[in-house]
Amino acid sequence: MKCMLDLDGVLVDFIADAHRYYGLSYSYEDYPYELGNYHNCPPPNSEMTTREFWDGLAEEFWENIPWMHDGHEILTMVERAFGRENICLLTSPIPNYSNIVGKLKWVARELPEYAQRYLVGPAKSFCASPNTVLVDDADFNIEAFAKAGGRTVLVSRPWNSRHATDTMPLFRIQLHIVSAEHRRSQQ
Ligand SMILES: [Mg+2]
Repeated sequence: MKCMLDLDGVLVDFIADAHRYYGLSYSYEDYPYELGNYHNCPPPNSEMTTREFWDGLAEEFWENIPWMHDGHEILTMVERAFGRENICLLTSPIPNYSNIVGKLKWVARELPEYAQRYLVGPAKSFCASPNTVLVDDADFNIEAFAKAGGRTVLVSRPWNSRHATDTMPLFRIQLHIVSAEHRRSQQ
């Protein structure tokens, strides 16, 4: 089975670091926005326009985003479930594309074993197949991927529909279900 693995909001902590970058307050313990609402860019409590927000994030920002607190754990579990050789990073460009170079530099430094195994594109559902699972934090990506015939694992975060559920227990269950279904389909 192949696994397409998202970066922002799954492995890397984009939203917290964007707040830090712009000097805005943010906390996961006391999430400042509407739970389940993905649209937190630009942050509702900032004066920035959408364009200012995205255009202000330089290549160095993308290159240096820290890991999510559970990012390493998620990666380890996915590698254990599918095998590293079956995993491909899949990340979307931002509106002005400025994140792509910084992001690839991040991968080269943090995950050199994936330096030749990544895809960049917003249309994630084109990678869908019954033999492919998408691990992502955006409901719209998960829904489109499932609709296109792929398998899906939604990583629960404050900005998606599973915000009320602890991330790792839910992640473990979903991964188990997807792996078991796959094994059955192989028999
Ligand atoms: Mg994401």
